[in-house]
Amino acid sequence: MATCYLGIGSNLGNRRKNIKLAVKKVGALKDTCIIKESSVFETLPVGGPAGQPNYFNSVLKIQTKVPPLILLKKLKRIEKELGRGPSLRFGPRTIDLDILLYADKVIKNKKLTIPHPRMFLRDFVIKPLKEVL
Ligand code: ADP
Ligand code: MG
Repeated sequence: MATCYLGIGSNLGNRRKNIKLAVKKVGALKDTCIIKESSVFETLPVGGPAGQPNYFNSVLKIQTKVPPLILLKKLKRIEKELGRGPSLRFGPRTIDLDILLYADKVIKNKKLTIPHPRMFLRDFVIKPLKEVL
């Protein structure tokens, strides 16, 4: 089992509900359980097109047997199921699921960078992450 932290964000549609549904789907993944769930924070969008709605963000602490790349695939499937279409980088999205940390692994390839590079020092990750560490 690996302890892992997932970042969840939504800034389209019913944002709080999108996060709730994403948490439910993560909890239903095989060989995975949720240890802690942070509060949901409303945060200003960073980068991306001007005028996009605020984000709701939270962080999950999970334990999983699913290896990192497969976990990424499963998270992308959940994003699709929740109606995330093709979107601009940093643009609005119904749901964004990111792997922030995966045990003590350091990974850097085309598909996956862990620890997550961009968001890691940002308020919208740090605040909820602090609650579940
Ligand atoms: P972002 O989350 O950076 O705003 P996307 O959700 O569209 O943008 O993700 C773009 C790509 O980032 C994904 O297709 C994925 O392969 C890659 N990626 C790299 N590292 C990670 C990570 N730690 N967690 C999630 N996606 C990642
Ligand atoms: Mg993402």
